[in-house]
Amino acid sequence: MEKLVIIGSGPAGYTAAIYAARAELKPLVIAGNQPGGLLTQTTEVENFPGFPEPLQGFELMERMRQQAERFGARVQHGLVSKVAFKAGGPHILTLDDGSTVEPMALIIATGSRPRELGLPEEAALRNRGISYCATCDGAFFRQVPVAVVGGGDSALEEALFLTHFASEVHVIHRRDALRASVIMQKRVLEHPKITLQWNSVIAAVSDPKAEKVTAVTLKDTQSGKTRELPCAAVFVAIGHLPNTEIFADALPLDNGRIVLPDEGQSSMTSIEGVFAAGDCVDARYRQSITAAGMGCRAAIDAERWLSLRLETKK
Ligand code: NAP
Repeated sequence: MEKLVIIGSGPAGYTAAIYAARAELKPLVIAGNQPGGLLTQTTEVENFPGFPEPLQGFELMERMRQQAERFGARVQHGLVSKVAFKAGGPHILTLDDGSTVEPMALIIATGSRPRELGLPEEAALRNRGISYCATCDGAFFRQVPVAVVGGGDSALEEALFLTHFASEVHVIHRRDALRASVIMQKRVLEHPKITLQWNSVIAAVSDPKAEKVTAVTLKDTQSGKTRELPCAAVFVAIGHLPNTEIFADALPLDNGRIVLPDEGQSSMTSIEGVFAAGDCVDARYRQSITAAGMGCRAAIDAERWLSLRLETKK
């Protein structure tokens, strides 16, 4: 049996692992199918305290992993596909290779994934011009026009990154005001390669038959009129969905996010000994630093819970 398992290896998971490992709990981190989480796909991280010079998201996550391992955390690749919780533990986690792990305490830090547009062409053109990661795919689209959908920090960050490759970048936003932070707005609005397509949504993407993106049909959200915008790629950056499907029968969820019954006081879920942290819980802040803070809280809560539990078992 494991004392403590952490599912997820983003800032919440690795921070929980650092704290739990320093408390000599020898946590096992099940890293998921993208070790290091979403931040590994980001380019420069400029707002993580302690790094006055920007550093790459991948490097930040590597450093967190090394820090956790230095204190005795074990990081295992793999995906949890099924859970069976028992109040007070042990819980049973089934991995995608069929193996099982039985932790006394568990921290869920499964993060989130990009939200899709919901267009019929999306599946056919995924990885053929429709992408959810400019860092991953941007360099394939050099000296051609590309589009980014969304008005938040992610969309603007993607747009700025794409200016290194594309001939022009169109940011398609459904409203007439951006959601992103002021500093990002300023950079984008002043960039000579970026054009804002205000009050616009994508009604269709051409051309699934050609197996590549050639244009999008934009619909004006106010007049309802449509127009064609030629582009070779569409980068979708319209927010994220929590990775919580495997907990749907085991824990109360609110809009897919895990509900913490006593949120202000504790990171414990409604199942005793099961804790949660990061984007799978948090709909409001969703920053790497807030996820890290939540991971820290969950590890402290889990450690205290485990020591009480082990004491009463003596
Ligand atoms: P977000 O802030 O939730 O923004 C999502 C954007 O997508 C919004 O502009 C939204 O429009 C639009 N949208 C949502 N659903 C849509 C749909 N079906 N069709 C068209 N547009 C749609 O998400 P995010 O940009 O991923 O950012 C998430 C969090 O991470 C935020 O707190 C952000 O500050 C943070 N973040 C920070 C940085 C940084 O500091 N460098 C970088 C990336 C992310 P509306 O505005 O109309 O709702």
